[in-house]
Amino acid sequence: MPGRILKGGCFCGETAYTINVPETLPLVEGTTHLSPTCVIDHCNTCRRTSGSIFRAWITVPEPWITIISHPKEGENSKLVHFESSPQVHRSFCGICGTHLFYKKEDSWHKVSAIEEKVHLVDITIGSLDEESLAQVDLVKPSMHLWWKDGIGWVKDMFDSESGKGTFGGLRRYITGDIGINAEEV
Ligand SMILES: [Zn+2]
Repeated sequence: MPGRILKGGCFCGETAYTINVPETLPLVEGTTHLSPTCVIDHCNTCRRTSGSIFRAWITVPEPWITIISHPKEGENSKLVHFESSPQVHRSFCGICGTHLFYKKEDSWHKVSAIEEKVHLVDITIGSLDEESLAQVDLVKPSMHLWWKDGIGWVKDMFDSESGKGTFGGLRRYITGDIGINAEEV
């Protein structure tokens, strides 16, 4: 069945990736959300590791992702992985520093239409190509995560009258849990 392909990569072009999104978007079981889920993440670790005041992620089943490295002849991929907390691997380009992926190694999820449980991998929305960013229905965040960690003046911007029309009206989860019983603000 034809789906859509999102493309992205790091600033210098050393690492690129594609995301193969099926035509029928599957449900992330245990939640009310279809995959891909797109979020604005306010957690402290994402803030410090990105240097950005909040981070936006598109989260997809790992089997949808193809990573394409373009190392110089005779060299290995420059994609660097580091463990920001136990079992959590973040990956960035070792040349230009663009952050690309987040994966929790000990976390498995059931997504409808995929038989085996899979890792859900977060990919930085800002690393998507412009043509992919134009696919609003797939890439525009629909919720805030880790609202409890958010910086006050940042949350004020989302809550302001002008912010309500854009991201202010999104669901706000207190932590990273988006399950059906997860706490919302
Ligand atoms: Zn790079």
